[in-house]
Amino acid sequence: MKLHCFTFNPLGENTYIAWCEESLECVIIDAGMYDSSEHTQIQSFITENNLSPMALLGTHAHIDHIFGNWWVKQIYQIPYYLHQDDVKMIDRSETMAALWNLAYTPSPQPDHFLNGGDTIAVGKDIFEVRYVPGHAPGHVIFINHTNKFAVVGDTIFQGSIGRTDLPGGNHQQLIEKIHSEIFTLPDDYTLFSGHGNQTSVGIEKNTNPFFN
Ligand SMILES: [Zn+2]
Repeated sequence: MKLHCFTFNPLGENTYIAWCEESLECVIIDAGMYDSSEHTQIQSFITENNLSPMALLGTHAHIDHIFGNWWVKQIYQIPYYLHQDDVKMIDRSETMAALWNLAYTPSPQPDHFLNGGDTIAVGKDIFEVRYVPGHAPGHVIFINHTNKFAVVGDTIFQGSIGRTDLPGGNHQQLIEKIHSEIFTLPDDYTLFSGHGNQTSVGIEKNTNPFFN
């Protein structure tokens, strides 16, 4: 499985495209594109690489991760997958956008719910879904064991963890779930976060100040 990272919107969110090199089927993870130049960026990448979008996957539904949901639905008409416990974040997103003075077109509701333990096929490649709440109540991560990486959204960052002061946040739960769902992966797995640089399980286990 191949992965490409884009950094979008005023909040510097990482949007990912993951694809199967054989079938060229792809998924978009966290559609954070904010304006027409960002729409063009991701659309050009998909076209130039001959990719066929199959699904939109959400790690969680904070507003910076869903700015582009409406656009993805309009252009690609693909199903949107999200954990049920983050639907309330979508319902709250117009209020949050107004609060932060950001332009926002309402996101469609999910077509399918994700649960920990699910697997998602992208062509011949597989994502394992794990449930890692604490930053958001319905936060999930996507793990590809063949290529040893995980798209972890806002659970853990290089040297930090997701904030837990937003509605539905729970600091103790986030710490526990990072231990049980992320630090149980082998040290050499790369972690692709929702903001900032990529890191690895081993680096964060040994140097992240929240765990050392
Ligand atoms: Zn978030």
